[in-house]
Amino acid sequence: MRETRGVRFKLLRPGVTREEVERAADVCATRGEGDREKLERVMLYGQSAECRWKLLHEYFGEELAPGACGHCDNCLHPLEERLGLSTPEAEAPAPREGPPDVSGAKRMKKVLEVSEGDAVRVPKYGRGRVASLEDDKVAVELPDGETRTFKREFVRRG
Ligand SMILES: [Zn+2]
Repeated sequence: MRETRGVRFKLLRPGVTREEVERAADVCATRGEGDREKLERVMLYGQSAECRWKLLHEYFGEELAPGACGHCDNCLHPLEERLGLSTPEAEAPAPREGPPDVSGAKRMKKVLEVSEGDAVRVPKYGRGRVASLEDDKVAVELPDGETRTFKREFVRRG
């Protein structure tokens, strides 16, 4: 969808129906917001570390179920990760040879302390519950009953 004056909107989620878009456009049009306020909101949207989907819902005055969507860039890459406060393991060089430096590895990574049954949040799938723990992996039972295994650094309390 496109607004006049070249302000474009991009869908952040696949499968948005035409009806949803039209409803959102209606809400937007009837609100009669000034261009200035719109610009401020767009800037806020770009700078925000909050869930994009949540911000879009707020913009259109709709309620969104609490909790992050788990799909947008801010959910998949939280601000602390982008600021380098937590480094994904994929980017850290893995030691290949020699005895493993356990103390060094422990210092490099902040290990998430969770126990079985704890409520957690994982990328893409959202909320779940810890089913079992194994070294650097956490098996999470998802709301649909499925259990998936995640690397510990991608699991957050929630
Ligand atoms: Zn999100």
